[in-house]
Amino acid sequence: MTDGFRAVYGTEPTGVWAAPGRVNLIGEHTDYNDGFVMPFALPHATLAAVSPRTDGLLRVHSASGEVPGDIVELALDDLAPGRRDGWADYPAGVLWALRDAGHAVTGADLHFVSDVPHGAGLSSSAAIEVVTALALNELYELGLAGWQLARLCQRAENVYVGAPTGIMDQTASACCTAGHALFLDTRDLTQRQVPFDLAAHGMRLLVVDTRVQHAHSDGEYGKRRAGCEAGAAALGVPALRDVPHDGLEEALGRIEDDEVRPLVRHIVTENHRVERVIELLSQGGVRAIGPVLTEGHASLRDDFRISCPELDLVVDTALASGAIGARMTGGGFGGSAIVLVDSDAADTVTKSVQEAFAAAGYAAPRVFTAVPGAGARRAR
Ligand code: ADP
Ligand code: MG
Repeated sequence: MTDGFRAVYGTEPTGVWAAPGRVNLIGEHTDYNDGFVMPFALPHATLAAVSPRTDGLLRVHSASGEVPGDIVELALDDLAPGRRDGWADYPAGVLWALRDAGHAVTGADLHFVSDVPHGAGLSSSAAIEVVTALALNELYELGLAGWQLARLCQRAENVYVGAPTGIMDQTASACCTAGHALFLDTRDLTQRQVPFDLAAHGMRLLVVDTRVQHAHSDGEYGKRRAGCEAGAAALGVPALRDVPHDGLEEALGRIEDDEVRPLVRHIVTENHRVERVIELLSQGGVRAIGPVLTEGHASLRDDFRISCPELDLVVDTALASGAIGARMTGGGFGGSAIVLVDSDAADTVTKSVQEAFAAAGYAAPRVFTAVPGAGARRAR
């Protein structure tokens, strides 16, 4: 990292920070409905070697950017939502959000290296935002807590980049801890670290990246979000979080819009699934979360309608070849699925999915075992 920074900028960085990608165990699209989510951090992370500047300039370089090798140089005073500088929008958005919140940040040089796959539903966007925010927080001694950095990063992504995502990804990257999943109430950002050690139970969670690229800002995500807001308005509640699971049928009967009704059903049942998973894990019933994950997939496929043939093929093939549970994870329309398997069935299930993809003429998926890693931290 230090070598890379020196090669790009010709000086030594002040420090190196890291922020991970994440995988979401359960609680999909609930984070902009004031609901519950349960992500954990991946070992995959974005590293940033960083030095502060005093001249009002931001320079960014990525070893994995769209135009590798190019330094993007921007004047902080020119940063404004709606500017378009490609991938640099993510770190630039963070600088904009920090300054817009009144923090006296006077510039920085950043060099990024990442092994979080881009656009795979594993949140490379939050990783690059959070690593930027954490580095500046420490270099400029801003004293912001993890959840505050997450809020600023979400603002960067929503307002500056223009992707209407919830708060889950940034909070996961900023606040997760190794060996745990993060139970997050997105209404008040209350957090609980839930021990999640599948190996101790003879199981594994596989991540299957379909390599189908999603694009959050392309409209479908925004349409789902707008549909959820319309549902809450029709029901006279601040957010769909406020619709109780045992009042769901009654609530659905009050919604006239046929497109909105299934969206509401997904959010309310999904919040309930997060609560069920929490309860099962607290009782040591790790295996029993499998069917809850699979139910979540059916809900995302049929009610929320954000799956795709490749994700469905992963789930169907995995279950047919012995998986305990499986579902798409992340925003949808591509990206990754997660598969809960007995450790000794992992190879068989992986092989079945790979063969099914080959038979369908799809590109080979990337499969790895996800073990909960650490959240954002200083690396050097
Ligand atoms: P996801 O968060 O699921 O990976 P997004 O579409 O939200 O997908 O964000 C991916 C985008 O984030 C990339 O297309 C790129 O513009 C930017 N990005 C993320 N990490 C990096 C990085 N290390 N270097 C350059 N750009 C990055
Ligand atoms: Mg993202």
